Amino acid sequence: MRAVVYAEPGEVALSDVPEPRLEADGDAIVAVRRAAICGTDLHVTYGHAPGMEPGAVLGHEFTGTVVEVGRAVHRVKLGDEVMTSDFTACGHCWWCRSGRHWHCAERQFFGTGGVFGPVLPGGQAELVRVPHADVTLSALPAGLGPEAALLIGDNLATGWAACKQAAVVPGSVVTVVGAGPVGQLASLAAQVHGAAVVVVSDPLPERQALATAHGAVATDPETARAVVDSVSAGRGSDVVVEAVGHAFGLDAALDLVRPGGTVTSVSAHTDPGWQLPLARCFGAEIVLGFVIGNSLPLRDELTALIGAGVLDPTFVVTGRGQLEDAPKRYHDMWQAREMKVMLQLGDDRG
Ligand SMILES: [Zn+2]
Ligand SMILES: [Zn+2]
Repeated sequence: MRAVVYAEPGEVALSDVPEPRLEADGDAIVAVRRAAICGTDLHVTYGHAPGMEPGAVLGHEFTGTVVEVGRAVHRVKLGDEVMTSDFTACGHCWWCRSGRHWHCAERQFFGTGGVFGPVLPGGQAELVRVPHADVTLSALPAGLGPEAALLIGDNLATGWAACKQAAVVPGSVVTVVGAGPVGQLASLAAQVHGAAVVVVSDPLPERQALATAHGAVATDPETARAVVDSVSAGRGSDVVVEAVGHAFGLDAALDLVRPGGTVTSVSAHTDPGWQLPLARCFGAEIVLGFVIGNSLPLRDELTALIGAGVLDPTFVVTGRGQLEDAPKRYHDMWQAREMKVMLQLGDDRG
């Protein structure tokens, strides 16, 4: 079957790879219909990511049709159109029962080689094996489009989780640093949580324009503090969501938060060290937190909100293509010509 694989730093390739087979009774095989390229895919293929080996099948954001199930799969059925989480977990251990599936001993992240633990081939492929299918997959309810369903699995869940952890409440002043897909959806999530104003800081004019068109006050990083001051009587932002993916994003966030405020980082940070401005954080009583999005405990509420028309995450998709376009589309995203690209397979082609 055809799949998008990691080739070398800065290059992915379309390759012929063996079809996946059921390996455990809880597995399912999904014929992929949509697969998206994520900032995390860029992150783990752009340089020498430890654990990323050539030939690794990429992709952790997909939807599709169940074409095979193991004997222990009961909730998900053959022929179901399904959405997925970007990682799998057992669903039964203490971590899973408390909604912290990321820390499950059986957690495997799709399509990122060995960067986040054991290798689990990804969904930028015609077929993908899904472990713990009854936990990882859910059938699409009527009316939920495949692109919205796909975005629940990672980007929307991540932006939503940031607002939950940071306890955004009606009237909050929220600032989002970095206006990629997760930043855009964190802005949307903050508005749904009742934020009085959401400031979005990003250097790219087209990302500022997109944030503005979806309810935020957009600004360049250089003028962000002045904009935040103007909407917070000079106090600073109650909540800052950092969605940049570099340590400088955290420094920028700490410059924008008010005393007693909360900074929540949703980026994939891999730097081993960072100079935490201790005296400032202590003196200003800053709450600093990190969130790795987990759609499994959020899937039902996000599905309900989309179904009710309260939010629509699909505006972050800026480009669409076919599976064979993936190598070019990765370059488009590395060079910020596209913000998020959706690949279509099977019956959805065209
Ligand atoms: Zn992702
Ligand atoms: Zn578990």
